[in-house]
Amino acid sequence: MRPIHVIGGGLAGSEAAWQIAKAGVPVVLHEMRPERATDAHHTDGLAELVCSNSFRSDDADTNAVGLLHAEMRLAGSLILHEADAHQVPAGGALAVDREGFSQGVTRAIEANPLITVECGEVPGLPPEDWDQAIIATGPLTAPALAEAIRAETGEDALAFFDAIAPIVHTETIDMDVCWHQSRYDKVGPGGTGKDYINCPMNREEYEAFVQALVDGDKTVFKEWEHVPYFDGCLPIEVMAERGPETLRHGPMKPMGLTNAHKPDEKPYAVVQLRQDNALGTLYNLVGFQTKLKYGAQKAIFQMIPGLANAEFARLGGLHRNTYINSPALLDPSLMLKSRPGLRFAGQITGCEGYVESAAIGLLAGRFAAAERLGENAERPPATTALGALIGHITGGHILSDSEPGRRSFQPMNVNFGLFPPLEPGALQKPEGAGRWRGKDKALAKKRAVTTRALADCRAWLEGTMAAAVAAE
Ligand code: FAD
Repeated sequence: MRPIHVIGGGLAGSEAAWQIAKAGVPVVLHEMRPERATDAHHTDGLAELVCSNSFRSDDADTNAVGLLHAEMRLAGSLILHEADAHQVPAGGALAVDREGFSQGVTRAIEANPLITVECGEVPGLPPEDWDQAIIATGPLTAPALAEAIRAETGEDALAFFDAIAPIVHTETIDMDVCWHQSRYDKVGPGGTGKDYINCPMNREEYEAFVQALVDGDKTVFKEWEHVPYFDGCLPIEVMAERGPETLRHGPMKPMGLTNAHKPDEKPYAVVQLRQDNALGTLYNLVGFQTKLKYGAQKAIFQMIPGLANAEFARLGGLHRNTYINSPALLDPSLMLKSRPGLRFAGQITGCEGYVESAAIGLLAGRFAAAERLGENAERPPATTALGALIGHITGGHILSDSEPGRRSFQPMNVNFGLFPPLEPGALQKPEGAGRWRGKDKALAKKRAVTTRALADCRAWLEGTMAAAVAAE
């Protein structure tokens, strides 16, 4: 049988190779280290963790990444197996001995008779005779390959930096303070004139907010990141530093907006939130890309009227990161539409984090192996963490309505905002329970989502999902 070529032996590539071999298909894993290094990797081991040694929460009951761990374990993930084997104490988090973990992955891959590891940079798109390949070269993809991807996919389809504004869970926005309205009630394509959620500020609130941005703790760029500031994408705190009025004439301008709760009171400034996913469960703070440290972001953004109790699906950031515009470029099986046989996996597809990258490697590996074996590769249901994550990557996001056609796809960790809502009636107050407090209800909701996810994940892995859906 002809091998499938996997380019990049990081979290995603190692997992993809493992899944392909698990299906009985030979695989060649190409890794450029140690022949060529990246700016963040320091070893020649596979699946090196370049920064933190944590895979985040391991709570599969009420945490989306913990749920993703559980689903990956069910699917026979090598990355999770080695993480479990090299766990170090870290409270509720799954943290690992980074060297032991990477060595464990390397040993398992090298010992697998179906996997050949080839050391060397792949300097361009896979040659014609590699009829099936997966590119999993990560956020620091070597320049020659990045350039080749850009030539194949188009100028605007490959980003080298992410400039991310914070994203909040819609249900945690206080709509007694905020209101829905597009500026000047403008109706864009598919819009209603009420597409944005607006948070009003009076002068006192605005001035305190600007001062907090100026004083807030900031992350410093690493020298090799060479992050450019381009106008239109300046960090919010850099704009605040340019003068007290800058934001009021920029992303926080109050023009064309009337506070639905207090129509006679003109807001001094307004923070606008824009729908971030097709489900409408997530909204991003427009123009709020930031290098503030995470702790500072939470404290400062909760000063915004209406966001005092906001829960953040992700905080803002500005990083060196190579990723493609997956929703436009990839088909549902992570294959490049313009080049059959070539798939992408890992952070380069627009997921974020070690676990998510490995999860997308797991799926790409399964899809590629199924194709080689002439089988039908079923996608995980959208109700699972794996399905919610791939849904974010291959669809489900929306384009900016104020600038039609502009891509709004940004990398994202797995979070509950990516899951479809529970079916009506699925959430029942426990019998005999007194008043159902908001916190308890939120927890019950998470439990209902994770219970549904694990049941659906098992059915998917047993191949019974399609039958169940067809029977409905
Ligand atoms: P990687 O793990 O980076 O693997 C890609 C592999 O491809 C590398 O081994 C590289 O050497 C190889 N490669 C690249 N180009 C070629 C080529 N042309 N030919 C052959 N091989 C090639 N995530 C977290 O969850 N927690 C963190 O603390 C964290 N910190 C980070 C810090 C930095 C500085 C960066 C850049 C990222 C960080 N991330 C973190 C994100 C993290 O990189 C990804 O989550 C994860 O490593 C991505 O997995 P991946 O397999 O897609 O890429």
